[in-house]
Formats: sequence, C-alpha cells, structure tokens
Amino acid sequence: MSEQRAPGRVYLVGAGPGASGLLTLRARELIEGADVILYDRLIAPEALDHARPDAELLYVGKDGAAGKDLSVAQEQTIALMLERARAGRSVVRLKGGDPLLFGRGGEEAQALAAAKIGFEIVPGITAALGAGAYAGIPLTQRHLASAVALVTAHEDPSKEGSDIDWEALARFPGTLVLYMGVRRLDAAVGALIAGGRSGDEPAAIVEAATLPHQRTLRCALAQLPELARKASVRAPALTIIGAVAELADQLQWRAPGELPLAGLSIAVTRARAQASALAKRLRALGAEVIEAPAIAIRELALQPLDPAPYDLICLTSANGVAPFFDRLASAGCDARSLAHARVAAIGPGTARALFARGIRADLIPTRYVAEGLLEMIAERREGDLAHISRALVARAREAREELPQGLRALGIETDVVALYETVAVSPPRALIGAAAGCDYITFTSSSTVRNFLDALGAAEGGDPERLRARVVSIGPVTSAQLAERGVSVDVEAERHDIEGLIDALLADVQAHGGAAGIKRP
Ligand code: SAH
Repeated sequence: MSEQRAPGRVYLVGAGPGASGLLTLRARELIEGADVILYDRLIAPEALDHARPDAELLYVGKDGAAGKDLSVAQEQTIALMLERARAGRSVVRLKGGDPLLFGRGGEEAQALAAAKIGFEIVPGITAALGAGAYAGIPLTQRHLASAVALVTAHEDPSKEGSDIDWEALARFPGTLVLYMGVRRLDAAVGALIAGGRSGDEPAAIVEAATLPHQRTLRCALAQLPELARKASVRAPALTIIGAVAELADQLQWRAPGELPLAGLSIAVTRARAQASALAKRLRALGAEVIEAPAIAIRELALQPLDPAPYDLICLTSANGVAPFFDRLASAGCDARSLAHARVAAIGPGTARALFARGIRADLIPTRYVAEGLLEMIAERREGDLAHISRALVARAREAREELPQGLRALGIETDVVALYETVAVSPPRALIGAAAGCDYITFTSSSTVRNFLDALGAAEGGDPERLRARVVSIGPVTSAQLAERGVSVDVEAERHDIEGLIDALLADVQAHGGAAGIKRP
C-alpha cells in the first residue's frame, strides 16, 4: 500500500429520527461504502446494519446520563475524523436527525474546511419533522400556525446570560418545537408563560419519535412538566407547543403503547452481523435495544470445497451458510452439487439461511444443539440414514467437538471444516455500561458471555455488580458459561434459537405483570 494516499472524503450524514425507513438513499449508499463510521448515540439504531462488515465503527457519543468520562469530547471526535480522512479513508460522520440542526455538524464542517479536506453534507429528517408526522401534529396548518421555531435548550432558562431570548420566543407567532430533555422543562415552560404565552395553549411531548416505543403525551402548556414527571418521560424526547398540538388527538395514526416490551431496554451482545434479526424483532415488540457486540464473525481464508465425497453435510449455524456456499463456488460448484447428499441444519435459523440458497434441509432437530441433531441421526440410522458413511461438519473454528465425535461413534467417517471464527471485539465503553444497566441483557452463545464479561471487567474494574440487567440465556451451554463466571441466569430459553429466546423473555415480562413490573426504580 502506498504511504502517500490522497485524503479521503468526509461525509456529514443525517441518519433521520430513528425509524429505519427514514434514512435517505444517499445516506444508505454512503454508509454501505464507508471505511470508517463515526456515530452518535442518537442515530437510527438500524442505520449501522448497512455498514460493511470490515468497516471501522467508532462510537463518539456524548451521553448525558452516563457521565462525562464515558462520552467522547468534541475535539477528540474532530481529531479522529481528520486523522482517518488524512489516512485516505472514506469517513462517514453519522448524526441523528439532520447533521446541521443542533448536532454541531456546522462546526465539524468548519474544521474540515480549515484542514482542506473535501466533504459532503447529507441532510436528514430532523426529529421535529419525524415527531410531527408520527404523532399526527402538522407543525404548520392554515389558520393555526404559519411559522415554526426549532429551539434547543440544554441550558437552564433561568440562568443569567442564557443564549435563548425566552420572552421573544413567548411572542413567536407560531409553533415552538423544543429539542430538549425533560429535566429543564419546568424552567422553560415557566419562562414562556412569564413571557406571555398562555398556560392553556395546547402542547405535546413526543418521546422516541418514529421508533416502535414512541409515546405522545398531550396536555395544556402549564401542565406539561408535571405530566412529563408522572409519565417518567425518557430521552430522546421533544416538546411541541402551539394550537397544532391539539390535532394529535384527531390525527394520531400509530397505535399507542400496546407493544409488550414498550418501556424496556434490552442489550444484545452478539455480533453485529447476526444481531440485526434479534434487535429488529425486539424493537418491533417495543423495546429500546442497545447493541453492544462483544464478538465479530470473521470468515477464514477461502478454500475450495467439493461436497461430492459426503453423503451427509451438517451446518451448525446460519453464520456458516454464506461462507459454505462461497467455498462451493470456488470449487466450481453450486447448490446442485449437494443433490446427492442429506443436509442437516442445527436449527430453523440455519435452515432458513439454507433455504434462501435453494436448499431445503433434510434434518432439523427439535432441540437446536449438537446433541439434538445426534439423537435424530441415531434414531434414523436404522431407517433412511442407514446408507450414510461419510459426513462433513461445516462450522466455526472454535465449535464444540460433540457433533463430529458423536457422528464417528455412530460409525460415520467425519471431516470437519472450519468456515469462520468468532473473535472478541470490545464494544465502546459507554455502550458496555449502557448494556449492563439495561432492563435485560441477552446472551446467545458462550463466546458472547466470555467476551462481554471480559469487556465489562476491563471497563468497570471487574465488578460483577455492574451487571444489573436481568440475564437472558439462549440455552444450557450459554447458561453454564454464565454460571462459571458467577452470573446467575434469570431467564433461559426452552427452544435454543432467537424465537425461543424472545418467547422466554416475553414470558418473563408477563410473569412480572408487564413492563412496569420489570423496571427498576
Ligand atoms: N440533529 C438532531 C438533533 C440533535 S439534538 C436532529 O436533527 O434531530 C438532540 C435532541 O433531539 C434530543 O435531546 C431530543 O430533544 C431530540 N430528538 C432526537 N431524536 C429524537 C426522537 N427520536 N424523538 C424525540 N426527540 C428526539
């Protein structure tokens, strides 16, 4: 590689307000191509699913709740951005909503201009527009509002020398949208009413706008702070003040708050590439999902694989399916080369991945572990599997030996091919803390347990007390690993796949009388 590379371009990209469909096509295209992505906490949770598996994902969030030491300083973010661009890499700086609205995107562009690094700015749907649309509040409406003011108010409105002229805002002839948490709402509402705004004016708080767990709270301006406290509104949330807020009562088109996991935060520790299906399902059920991947999947060097000698081929994970077909392809084969063999999938996820490649698995055990598959094969050894003499187990490098050993014990000559390995990755410190403090944390393999707990130990001085979340395990092997590390399991899935894990989690929530019974004070 040449030492003098031309500087890469930096893209300041808005990720929209949260819902995965509200990302622009340009944003998606740039995320797909990026070498490096610097992202904030408030970005649309699924935006990173589009990143290349080898892209460098750097969390540079400023997390108010986590405390100063866990957040990345703005100078450091800019320094990282410049450094990566100078190294010739294509850098996406991904921000929630629109990059130039209350996101310091303007300052970052100035730093790039000063450093003479080329950049592009990609607008995003800002939170106010997301909230308006998804809460049924037109920010302008004939006869009600012909102007909108977007206001950020992170500072205390009662403070001397505040940047915001609250009296002028109180007189503003139109809708006010306050981009701010609920902590300062008391003072802001007080300042507006003192400035002449009517306490009876319609107002709304929209929490987690456009996300599955969105909530809209409606009342008169004067009652807003108390309602926010009672309903324990959490970030991100914004406030809409003006006659148009009342239209929400009529135009609300999303079913409010019926989702079973609404209000709960759930951490997912598996590799980002595999996490998305689980995270998506949990989000669709209303949960707020924190992805803190503790492992990554890395394909091993591609070697041609000819399936002709094997009359039984076992795939032990959905992760193995793509690399398996890559190896067939590099031997000049395709799905037809499997026609003579029986194909076994360890569970329905693997079977689905195979089916997407045109192969219907012949064997799927009812227990989705090596032992389950072995029992099934043993049972049918007298019947339709009597002819099997040579098997291939295609799997992860670090997989357990039960399956090949068991097959050999059944008199089947067995080869093993390692397709990929799982490697430890350290989630950003702020995300480790956030994951450990969720209502639930999910573990889907022993490797996620080992690596997450190691990362937690490194970040928190090895204090297991930091894991305050209820612990959900996918099955006995994962639970044993947790027990070995001194972590007690609150929920273990009966069926050892993602569906089974979600069912067990839902049952636990129900056993506690719903989300409210789970939440810690
Ligand atoms: N650049 C962003 C705003 C960043 S400031 C944008 O254009 O949307 C962060 C504030 O935005 C939060 O404190 C909150 O008030 C608001 N916000 C961001 N996402 C939100 C969401 N999904 N729902 C409600 N408010 C949100």
